[in-house]
Amino acid sequence: MKAFAMLKAGTTGWIDLPRPSCGPFDAIVRPLAVAPCTSDIHTLYENSLGAKDCIVLGHECAGVVDEIGSEVRDFRIGDRVIVPAITPDWRTREIANGTNHCHCSGMLSGWKFSNIKHGVFADYVHVNDADMNLAHWPHGVTPAQAVMMSDMMSTGFHGAELARIKFGAACAVIGIGPVGLMAVRAAFLRGAGRIFAVGNRKVCADLAVEFGATDIVDYRREPATRQIMEATAGEGVDHVIIAGGPPEVLTCAVEICKPGGVVGNVNYFSSGEFLPLPRRAWGSGMAHKQLNGGLTPGGRGRMERMANLVRYKRCDPGKLVTHIFKGSEHIPEALELMHHKPPMLIKPLVLLN
Ligand code: NDP
Ligand code: ZN
Repeated sequence: MKAFAMLKAGTTGWIDLPRPSCGPFDAIVRPLAVAPCTSDIHTLYENSLGAKDCIVLGHECAGVVDEIGSEVRDFRIGDRVIVPAITPDWRTREIANGTNHCHCSGMLSGWKFSNIKHGVFADYVHVNDADMNLAHWPHGVTPAQAVMMSDMMSTGFHGAELARIKFGAACAVIGIGPVGLMAVRAAFLRGAGRIFAVGNRKVCADLAVEFGATDIVDYRREPATRQIMEATAGEGVDHVIIAGGPPEVLTCAVEICKPGGVVGNVNYFSSGEFLPLPRRAWGSGMAHKQLNGGLTPGGRGRMERMANLVRYKRCDPGKLVTHIFKGSEHIPEALELMHHKPPMLIKPLVLLN
């Protein structure tokens, strides 16, 4: 089969691979729509997760079941499915002992596609533990919505979970690319009173307002810390979600967070050995400002809950898609868009035959 891979750091190309084989609990899915992620860019160009030669890229996908293992109960060949970006092994000792499923057999091991096994930019995709990881693709949900649920929506919503947003609280979302925009929507749905959205591109700022942001902060005009502290009469915000930017955004997040507040990070800090935590703003370690960081949850239950939010019109992740391509030959172009982030881009989608 044909697949689009990272050949070595900074180099991509099409490769031929054998079709994946299907174990008793697994499924083989033929992608109908895929999207590149900023994390693919970090992995490819910044070598952030170490050397990964000849690994197929991509982890955002919805498709159709092409083969099922003998022990799979809930899915049939021909079912349309959402494939979560995170597909843990659900039977590990760590999960049995209560470890978060993202780390089912070691740190970040629930993230398999394009990380520890071939990703979804291929004619066929292997999904481990299909009953636990696949979700049925509900009628009325568009391909754009289905693919955006698999990672962007789940990750943005996780930012709001990690930041533990409370009704009426003041909140800031740093970074309003597709992940941050979903975090804005999640903050709105969790009842935040005031939502600062920090970004620069107009297309993102406009959608942030539509999703529920009350204040747009252009970090290129003036430092975001100064703008948010001024707008809150020096108090800062109760909750911060970090969803983009370089390591310095962590400094900003701690600075604008009130004592006792919570910072939820879903950003993938892709360079440097250490992150800049400001000592004074962190109360020399005594400010009760909590820092939580996490990979997006995955698996079937997570996708079914995301799908409910879409079906019942609480959230429309399809609005993130600004560029649509038809045909797998456009996957490299879509990936390069995510690399260069032109002004009108939020997220590209590639529809497959
Ligand atoms: P984008 O690059 O599309 O968006 C990044 C956002 O951050 C933009 O709004 C950008 O503003 C803003 N930004 C850039 N620099 C700064 C700065 N100095 N201060 C404030 N804001 C800044 O990224 P995505 O939304 O696609 O992804 C966000 C992050 O989430 C990435 O690191 C990605 O790898 C990670 N990720 C993590 C996952 C997880 O499971 N935890 C899953 C998926 C993604 P503008 O462009 O307007 O200048
Ligand atoms: Zn991703």
